Amino acid sequence: MNAHLPYICGNDGLLTIKFSNMFNFILFGPPGSGKGTQSVKIAEKYNLVHISTGDIFRKNIREKTPLGIKVQSIIEKGELVPDSLLIEILEDALQQHSTAKGFVFDGFPRTIQQAKDLDTMLAKRKDSVSLVLALEVDDDEILKRLLKRAEIEGRKDDTKEVIANRIGVYNSQTQPLIDFYKGKNKFKSIHGLGGIDQIFAGICKIIDQHI
Ligand code: ADP
Repeated sequence: MNAHLPYICGNDGLLTIKFSNMFNFILFGPPGSGKGTQSVKIAEKYNLVHISTGDIFRKNIREKTPLGIKVQSIIEKGELVPDSLLIEILEDALQQHSTAKGFVFDGFPRTIQQAKDLDTMLAKRKDSVSLVLALEVDDDEILKRLLKRAEIEGRKDDTKEVIANRIGVYNSQTQPLIDFYKGKNKFKSIHGLGGIDQIFAGICKIIDQHI
């Protein structure tokens, strides 16, 4: 060994090894902000796996699985499914896609506890949340969009009363995540009003600056 070269030890903290360059993206925003539509496009463009907890629940409800039966009435009231069930679903999804280049999380996390659980789950894979991007849409626009969607899709949780409850739940339980991720320097936001392609272009610009 050349005595003039500094000795670098791999396990004393001097050398940081990056185990993963996955891109784990959270698309954040109130119900009806367009997370689902945009998440599909983002996953396709960046070759990421799209995980929509709402879609997972709806599929289970349709197929009348034990999970679907457990969560149906909660979702139809516009309440949040208990955090413990979310961890199970996420563990399962991450395992199913163990070779993914990264994820787009849509509708998750929705509570501080879920955000902490996600950090723990990703840390087990030597990974972390890369970026959280919020779609900003005001309450009047949300109500308008969801009532329109109710006419087209007939979702049971898109009635006026349930929408009001979902917006309330979002404001009290999900919005605190903004400060949680701001504190970690991972939070950005963008206007969620405008055409789908225009908003998508804005999202891509922010992602491209990040990766
Ligand atoms: P939206 O964003 O329009 O509210 P979602 O499809 O994301 O719709 O969610 C539908 C419903 O599924 C929520 O109102 C909630 O009851 C349940 N749900 C989805 N994701 C979560 C989550 N991360 N934690 C708790 N409940 C959830």
